[in-house]
Amino acid sequence: MSMFKDIPVEVGVIFEGERIRRNDMQVELGGPKVDQKFEIAKVKPMDQIEDGKVVIVGPDLKDLKEGGEYPLGILIEAAGAQLDPGLEGVIERRLHGYLNYIEGFMHLNQRYDIQIRLGKKSFQKGLNTFEIIGKVLYRLFKNELPIIEKLQITFITDISKIGSLYTDALASYEARDAKARGLKDNEVPEFYGCVLCQSFAPSHVCVITPQRYSNCGAISWHDGKASASIDPKGPIFAIPRGDVINEEKGEFSGVNEAAKKRSMGEVTKVWLYTAFDHPHTSCGCFEAVTFYIPEVDGFGIVHRTFKGVTVNGLPFSTLADSTAGGRQIDGFHGMSLEYMRSSKFFAADGGWNRVVWVPKEVKEKVKDFIPKDIIGKIATEDDAKGIDDLKTFLKEKNHPIVAKWTTEEAPATEAETEATPVMTASTLPISAGGFKIILTDAKIYASKVVIKKDESKTEKR
Ligand code: ZN
Repeated sequence: MSMFKDIPVEVGVIFEGERIRRNDMQVELGGPKVDQKFEIAKVKPMDQIEDGKVVIVGPDLKDLKEGGEYPLGILIEAAGAQLDPGLEGVIERRLHGYLNYIEGFMHLNQRYDIQIRLGKKSFQKGLNTFEIIGKVLYRLFKNELPIIEKLQITFITDISKIGSLYTDALASYEARDAKARGLKDNEVPEFYGCVLCQSFAPSHVCVITPQRYSNCGAISWHDGKASASIDPKGPIFAIPRGDVINEEKGEFSGVNEAAKKRSMGEVTKVWLYTAFDHPHTSCGCFEAVTFYIPEVDGFGIVHRTFKGVTVNGLPFSTLADSTAGGRQIDGFHGMSLEYMRSSKFFAADGGWNRVVWVPKEVKEKVKDFIPKDIIGKIATEDDAKGIDDLKTFLKEKNHPIVAKWTTEEAPATEAETEATPVMTASTLPISAGGFKIILTDAKIYASKVVIKKDESKTEKR
């Protein structure tokens, strides 16, 4: 049932988890093939905004070639007597939910990394202009966040206009993130939870603390606080921290309770500062994946826009698929890039001393936050293309993990792996012969594990 009679397609929460496959899409906006794309919210003075205005800069949806991929910038400008720039991140993140409410419209990721698809069916029904998208957004924003008094929305598809706005947007994200740094988890009485991603990952509850950004990298603790205060019944809510159960691993009674309640009992324990045993769940929109490399007992990290394969031979998409969906997978962790700038970054696992491989683009982005004595010892795609290269590199540079190899046995080789679980999971769904089997607290032992893409189910990128 549509919320709006004058809109040619339905709009409602039920469309939130809708996926649009490549074959069914009219156009893709942003996405991996497009370098410059962004969405950003700006709070402006009242007199600088024309309430309800939708501006389209460049070709409109109906002018874009069927099946094509195009750059897109979305600029949300809001004004209100009680609005301040501290709410920009909150307003901006709502785009994810609201755009997904539109039938035949799919929005993934955030900030500089958006991927949007318009389905052919909805296009044929008349959803062929940004004018309509803007109208829907305008109404949802005004309805759900009454603190916004005036709202103006601009869609930019003109490639010649996107560049400078994109650069501005990147600077704004960085300024926002920088502002959020410094505060510590043990200095606040409350954390925040986010269930914006439950439409795609039903058991996922993002726990946002001063030292742990949301997985998507778009919501800081300050954003969480602002959102919960202006819209306490919304998707972002306060989590009283409760008792510290385990300081090192980052276990708090309030977090466990909130995770249990909001995941319908699926997740009962969350450890915030480790990738092992009870790692934070991973939704689908995380900026990067941390993956355990048993051969060297260290972590590899890969970000969403990394084009090649990682040191274990797998691309981001495969690693993301084996991490996502709201599960807790031992040794795998979907996370924000900002978490890598936190002093709690996998603190219980050794922090940066446990990281052995990172794409050079990510290393460059977070280099000021990597301890000086370790930075040169972490391999990038230029230093190691495979596990053997990696071992050689780590030994040569005397990476701290190498000392662990000699004291606790050489790192696992194929013959030795049977003693170590290759995968443990608090719950692990398996589909077989029409049944869905869920293993609880499973540890799987194997002499060899092959993670393969199911080509029949995975679309071509
Ligand atoms: Zn998410």
